[in-house]
Amino acid sequence: MPSVPEKICRMMLHSTVKAWRERDGRYRLQGVVCKDCGKKIFPAVQICPYCHSKNLEKTEFASTGKIVLSPEPLWYPLTGFQELLPQYTVMIELDDGPFVCAELVHYPPPAEFKEGTRVEMAFRKLKREDIGNYVYGFKFRIVE
Ligand SMILES: [Zn+2]
Repeated sequence: MPSVPEKICRMMLHSTVKAWRERDGRYRLQGVVCKDCGKKIFPAVQICPYCHSKNLEKTEFASTGKIVLSPEPLWYPLTGFQELLPQYTVMIELDDGPFVCAELVHYPPPAEFKEGTRVEMAFRKLKREDIGNYVYGFKFRIVE
């Protein structure tokens, strides 16, 4: 077995099949729009949760938005760092309307960010699959 530069943490393992099926949503913020009630839904679903219609159309949502809810940061150690780094997971309202819960990538963190701060999507490594492959997807960064 080839050596890997970092530990594979079992808590972070991800199904290969699930990651493959959800890749459009992670790579391009692809969700669905219900043709019957007009609701914009992310992540993509097979049945509209509002009107139970199956008449859904895939669509790519805007990659920019604003923070609507920002809780206290989680502090966690990163591999190779001695200090604890803050991790901000925030609720974001995209410019198209749907809400996304995502991690902010901004280090060092800005002195102050609050609800209404503009953000844009950033493509980042998320985690590892159980066969060792990396899973990529969206995080968000603050637009200065
Ligand atoms: Zn609907």
